[in-house]
Amino acid sequence: MSRIAYVNGQYVRHADAAVHVEDRGYQFADGVYEVCEVWQGKIVDMPRHLDRLHRSLNELRIDWPMARSAVEFVIRQVIRRNRVVNGLVYIQVTRGVAKRDHFFPAEDVAPSIVVTAKPTSPAASQVQAEKGIAVVSYPENRWPRVDIKTIALLPNVLAKQHAKENGGKEAWYIDADGNVTEGGSTNAWIVTKEGALVTRPAENGILRGITRAVVLDLVQKEGLTFDERPFSLAEAFEAKEAFVTAASTLVMPVTRIDGKIIGNGHPGSVATRLRELFHTATDLQTA
Ligand code: PLP
Repeated sequence: MSRIAYVNGQYVRHADAAVHVEDRGYQFADGVYEVCEVWQGKIVDMPRHLDRLHRSLNELRIDWPMARSAVEFVIRQVIRRNRVVNGLVYIQVTRGVAKRDHFFPAEDVAPSIVVTAKPTSPAASQVQAEKGIAVVSYPENRWPRVDIKTIALLPNVLAKQHAKENGGKEAWYIDADGNVTEGGSTNAWIVTKEGALVTRPAENGILRGITRAVVLDLVQKEGLTFDERPFSLAEAFEAKEAFVTAASTLVMPVTRIDGKIIGNGHPGSVATRLRELFHTATDLQTA
């Protein structure tokens, strides 16, 4: 069975899927995207992801490429046509194809949309979660509008590559005050020695992760102590636990930061429990 992608109105073989060379996504990274988890044949938190897509589009003054209900239909189709049971679905929308010019196109240009899906292995992710991951700090060097989920991911690519070359799976951005903002593709959390969960407030410096929001709901439901406030790299070194959250990783324990062992060097009980409970707090829709 060949992989299928949706590109501007057509379902095409993934191997042949292409956008125009003058697509503004290609020329200027002038676009936004979303990633939803597919879990046991269900789409996880699609309404929240599409709400954030709406916000990202709005902030950049890009129109929906088609009605939101049509985007939902295409998402389901792409998941089904690729027979993805566990995996990730990507929705990318750009300002469209126009003669190269930094200014927004003067004429009415239709936004471009690409939807792709790929299978992932929950078993492999679980093996990773039972070991924990290493993260490597990296100076925050992104634009201030990281709340927009733009396809302009070069700083994230460079930070994550730096982490990889230094034995890590994820990079943690450190701002000018020495505080952790977030990961290259995840939100960052610690659990203090007193047992309080800490994560940076969503107001500035981070993407408002959907997984982060679900975990915050769960934390409240479980009656755990939490504090939405900035935390420093120094505080993270001393934490009892650390972890990251994203649709692609769910709750993923962090056991080393810059080579320093966190807690007892094993995934913490809070992160492990939140990972176990995660899907109980999500909105699950049949694909
Ligand atoms: N922060 C960044 C920079 C990301 O790229 C992502 C996900 O791609 C996240 C956080 C986590 O967001 P979500 O939980 O919505 O996947």
